[in-house]
Amino acid sequence: MFKIIRLWDDWDAILREKCTEIEEWEMHIYLPKLREMLDWIEGSSSHRAVWLALPQIGIPKRWFVVSCKRNGKKLRGVFINPIITVRSENVVGDREWCLSEPWVVKNVVRPWGIRMVHIDGHMNEKERLYDGYHARVIQHEFDHLEGILITDQP
Ligand SMILES: [Zn+2]
Repeated sequence: MFKIIRLWDDWDAILREKCTEIEEWEMHIYLPKLREMLDWIEGSSSHRAVWLALPQIGIPKRWFVVSCKRNGKKLRGVFINPIITVRSENVVGDREWCLSEPWVVKNVVRPWGIRMVHIDGHMNEKERLYDGYHARVIQHEFDHLEGILITDQP
């Protein structure tokens, strides 16, 4: 069971931290926890789409988990030390919500596509293009690692 930190909780300062990279030795310690977190958010949510970054459970480290499906395209995985290397020039707005601010639904404008490099749940380096809804989810989670919430967006 994980406790999700919300804005205005006693520990909400952690949501504003710029998270630090994971060292390789830490991956062995935290990977089982991440897989457990993925199972937990999938099991505990009535939404078809779930995503959570480590700072949201009180650990200011650069990784997040995503499990979502949109238009038949599934995205499920662990993203460790992610870096966005390219952002598309074309941007698009859509509604977003956040487990750390469950009372907010906000239209957020973001690049439509990104290229990202990250370590996956098997500790392999991946470089992939993401577009549309998947790119939106990933950018939302990436923002958490930078200490940015959707209410900070213009
Ligand atoms: Zn969020």
